[in-house]
Amino acid sequence: TSFGFKEVQEEEKSQMVSNVFSSVASNYDLMNDLMSVGLHRLWKDRLVSKLSPFPGMKHLDVAGGTGDIAFRILETVNSIRSRALQDPCYDPLQEETEIYVCDINPNMLNVGRKRAIERGLGKDKSLIWVEGNAEALTFQDNSMDGYTIAFGIRNVTHIEKVLDEAHRVLKRGGRFLCLELSHVEVPVFKEWYDYYSFSIIPALGELVAGDRESYQYLVESIRRFPNQEKFASMIADAGFRKVEYENLVGGVVAIHSGLKL
Ligand code: SAM
Repeated sequence: TSFGFKEVQEEEKSQMVSNVFSSVASNYDLMNDLMSVGLHRLWKDRLVSKLSPFPGMKHLDVAGGTGDIAFRILETVNSIRSRALQDPCYDPLQEETEIYVCDINPNMLNVGRKRAIERGLGKDKSLIWVEGNAEALTFQDNSMDGYTIAFGIRNVTHIEKVLDEAHRVLKRGGRFLCLELSHVEVPVFKEWYDYYSFSIIPALGELVAGDRESYQYLVESIRRFPNQEKFASMIADAGFRKVEYENLVGGVVAIHSGLKL
């Protein structure tokens, strides 16, 4: 039946995603830097600046295995905190920041834990690593001030479930932010970008990571992902308000945001 076929396809997709990330985990940073010519760092900075992190916040970063987003949030919180500590009226015990990093793949979480140690954040109690599925989170309703997902939602089986879960775990007033590779519509740049993604990325994957197939899959998954407007309407359908998006580099990536009101 077509239902059975769909189920097989979905199972294959989760297995494929799991294989892809197990295979790329160790080359992950190098490939990100090469493919985005270092720009992914600026995009992640931009995502965190839109979040406006604050000491005492409860935050959930989903598909956050490498810790890239969580470290930025924590470093922002720590710098606000150290400035506030100079104020004699400030009571640091009042706030306990909790930043949960949730990822389905234990290899990616291990990469993140290792990098936390390298960054001097190994003993920071605010960072909490959790193995889990974005489509069925184990966190309570209305428990988070913020939710981020960077380069993660494109790989899930049911985008709607992820958005529903994000809405469920956020408190009222909580912010949803998603950074994702998106669609370029600018003429000429679009042709150049297509050539870059279909020819150069898989070749780079083969050369650097010895894995053309995973990077071929990555490029195809970008093409299949809904465009900016469609994705914004899916976020609104999940119940978010004030949904907007910002294109970076002509839509190579987009940051979508929404509020739970
Ligand atoms: N957010 C990090 C970053 O920006 O560098 C990592 C992004 S990486 C491209 C995508 C991550 O999504 C992988 O670590 C993968 O294990 C995770 N992932 C895929 N499907 C997931 C799911 N259903 N639930 C949670 N994490 C998932």
